[in-house]
Amino acid sequence: EIRVEGLHKSFGDNHVLRGIDLEIGQGEVVCVIGPSGSGKSTLLRCVNLLEEPQQGTIVVGGTELTDPDVDIDAVRRRIGMVFQQFNLFPHLDVTENLTLPQRRVLGRDKAAAEKVAAENLARVGLADKAHAYPSSLSGGQQQRVAIARSLAMGPEVMLFDEPTSALDPELVGDVLAVMRGLAEEGMTMMVVTHEMTFAREVADRVVFMDGGVIVEQGTPEEVIGNPKNERTRHFLSRVL
Ligand code: ATP
Ligand code: MG
Repeated sequence: EIRVEGLHKSFGDNHVLRGIDLEIGQGEVVCVIGPSGSGKSTLLRCVNLLEEPQQGTIVVGGTELTDPDVDIDAVRRRIGMVFQQFNLFPHLDVTENLTLPQRRVLGRDKAAAEKVAAENLARVGLADKAHAYPSSLSGGQQQRVAIARSLAMGPEVMLFDEPTSALDPELVGDVLAVMRGLAEEGMTMMVVTHEMTFAREVADRVVFMDGGVIVEQGTPEEVIGNPKNERTRHFLSRVL
């Protein structure tokens, strides 16, 4: 599970996160929505220690990330992250994309890594693309490879930052279907997204951020269906 308390993050004078408190339980799916620049990506990046917070506590699976003595690499291994851009290695085929991090970071041997790669390609519906190169795949397929690569590391939680924003509309559904499957398997997930239908149908909880704070959170019914805050209503009126 993920626990964030009193989190503050600034870039120079820009006070981007202004006291975030958020708990995500084991197996819970939380969608984070909010306008551009509200700090959604920064929050996600803090949870993965890609950004170092100035103040506050972050605990993932019982380990305090904000403890100065924490083994950052060990923590990162337990947290999968998927970005808008897929960042696959273009010169490696799909299987090699999945086995390289397992071998480098987890020290798995080739056979073990290939077995895990095959299992996870099947999980995202791409068993038949094991030896394709990224450039021969659609954006949606590339993103599913990126998800499989992350899953192959055996993460306890998965963070997604607008995973479908770079995709052509007709390719979005396949990626969301994979994420929906993960949610159903009980993966703990934090998903920054503009896909309100996904948030409504899959999220256990929706968090609306604006100006570096959580303005409102609750069930999708509450936050998207019946927002209490004026800023939430204004945001939703523009995206729905
Ligand atoms: P979007 O919906 O456009 O992705 P966001 O909610 O994810 O927006 P962030 O990317 O977290 O917003 O950015 C919040 C603020 O932090 C912005 O003002 C941005 O310019 C600033 N910011 C983010 N990353 C950095 C960085 N590495 N260095 C300096 N400023 C940054
Ligand atoms: Mg962002």
